[in-house]
Amino acid sequence: MAATAVIRCSIPNCKEAAQYKLAAPWSDGRFTELKTYGHACAEHVGQVFRSAEDRRSTYKAAPGEQVGELGIYRSEKGWLDWQLQRDTELETRHRSWGSGAQGV
Ligand SMILES: [Zn+2]
Repeated sequence: MAATAVIRCSIPNCKEAAQYKLAAPWSDGRFTELKTYGHACAEHVGQVFRSAEDRRSTYKAAPGEQVGELGIYRSEKGWLDWQLQRDTELETRHRSWGSGAQGV
């Protein structure tokens, strides 16, 4: 096993280790994978999520290419796709910004 590399938060000046991965399922019709849009520490997860959501929504998919909904994934055990746990509660909280889904 390789030594565990520390993944840092995507915010340039932040030195924290990332606790979350922002990713959306991507598929070209044959392969499906989790496309990574960024990593975030607990403090910056909202900020990184919004910039990731911006990039995802302005991305022009090629014919046959599909980009799914952006999600916040918590790394509990590691950074492999199957080790990540989606945190929909956190997503809902940060998604209330823009995109019409205004919270009450
Ligand atoms: Zn950070």
